Amino acid sequence: MRFQSIKFEISFLHTAVLGIILVIYSSVFYFISNAFFRKIDQQLIAKVKAVDASISAYKAAMGEGPDVLAKAVQKTFDMKNEGFFAGDLKKVSRDWLKQAQTLNVFKDYINFYNKNSRESITSANFDKALLGVFVEDIYFKKDLPYRFKTLKIKKKYYRVITAPSSMTPAGEYYIQIGSPQDPVMERLRNILYSMVVILPLVLILTSYVGRRQAARILAPVHQITHLANTITSQDLSARITAKHFDKEMGSLVESFNDMIARLEKSFKHIEDFSHSVAHELKTPLTIIKGEADLLLRKERSKEEYQQALKIVLEESERVLKTVEDLLLLAKLDYQPEVFKFEDVDLIEFLEEICEQSRILGKKRSVSIHLNTQTITSSLRVKADKLHLRRLFFNLIDNAVKFSPEGGSIDVAVFIDEGKIVTSITDRGPGIAQEDLARIFEKFYRLDSNTPGNGLGLNIAGSIARVHKGEILVNSSPGAGSTFSVILPA
Ligand code: ADP
Repeated sequence: MRFQSIKFEISFLHTAVLGIILVIYSSVFYFISNAFFRKIDQQLIAKVKAVDASISAYKAAMGEGPDVLAKAVQKTFDMKNEGFFAGDLKKVSRDWLKQAQTLNVFKDYINFYNKNSRESITSANFDKALLGVFVEDIYFKKDLPYRFKTLKIKKKYYRVITAPSSMTPAGEYYIQIGSPQDPVMERLRNILYSMVVILPLVLILTSYVGRRQAARILAPVHQITHLANTITSQDLSARITAKHFDKEMGSLVESFNDMIARLEKSFKHIEDFSHSVAHELKTPLTIIKGEADLLLRKERSKEEYQQALKIVLEESERVLKTVEDLLLLAKLDYQPEVFKFEDVDLIEFLEEICEQSRILGKKRSVSIHLNTQTITSSLRVKADKLHLRRLFFNLIDNAVKFSPEGGSIDVAVFIDEGKIVTSITDRGPGIAQEDLARIFEKFYRLDSNTPGNGLGLNIAGSIARVHKGEILVNSSPGAGSTFSVILPA
């Protein structure tokens, strides 16, 4: 589903966050600037009222006469002190001047308009060229007590108020005041307007950039998905090759490649292993089949039957041993929890093993010596007795097997760097350097004629690992071999 994709989520989040920020920002901006403009408009209302009141006051002070309204307007616009002898006019002009000062109307453009005669009386500063623009607004039908408009005249901004005058007859006279705007305020207003246009554009752009970025970041994920779909156990050679990843994606790709490499190695191992197992079982089974075939071909003597059955029995034992060893290995490698550990006195344990091994050695007159001289107190280890015995038997069995007739084997126990070491040294043919690395592999034998299935050392190594220990070999051709079992104290 499209909306559940990370790409969509990233771009949506991008846009949403920016959108929220912009909306908050614009709202704050809008409210602040609005407050400013309202204040300006409020001042303009006060000015219009004051001008209207001043015209009324002048008109009243001047009494009846021709053009008295025009004169009152003019006096208001002139903003002059009427001097000492002007009677009522003096008070009116003094009051108006004071008010004009407080309201700061000196720089404003003021227009008194007669809608019937279409005549204007303007303040002295009024640029006549602007008049048309001002007056236009009066004919803009809308019945409100005050109307505001921002005009741009010769690159300057004016806030203009248009209001009906209180002069009679009603609806005939209008007062307009245009107040030059603070340039900063004007800029604010412009920004506010441009935001309305820019905001959606920014959001569209952010959404686009977000999508592009997400697509770039997630490109390796697509590659991984594609690769994962194509990988089979037959072909694990594929790797992700694209470069220039972000650090996180880089390590994901690296881990993925490493994982495939490990799987490839494991599959190869399993393949080799199955091959070895098949090979190992094939030989004895072929022999068994061959013997049976031979026997069935014609009637045989009792001795011949016995001889053949002996071979069948031996080969069956070989098959059985290999299968048992493989089952044990599976247990050692994959179910270490089935082992039962107990407190074992190692010296006592080894004495017993050596005693039993001597029976093995006797056949070839190989003697076995146990040396525990450096150990003064009893040595106790946590061990699964059954399997630890198997480990030592495998090593001693090999030592006996490879010792010359009448040779001797030394089993020594000592402590080295806080660890318990049991070394088994024989005086056999020794092992070449290149083979040392391989003798612990499953089914590996230096010489295919040596008896055994080549699993003994692998089993011993696994048992050592289950006991948190290891087996080290020291050997060179002609100089015998020493296998050291190292166990934690
Ligand atoms: P197996 O279970 O058949 O005895 P191992 O895994 O114990 O096999 O040993 C693998 C091979 O390592 C042996 O076939 C032999 O070639 C070599 N090897 C093991 N122990 C010794 C030793 N003490 N001296 C010389 N070669 C040895």
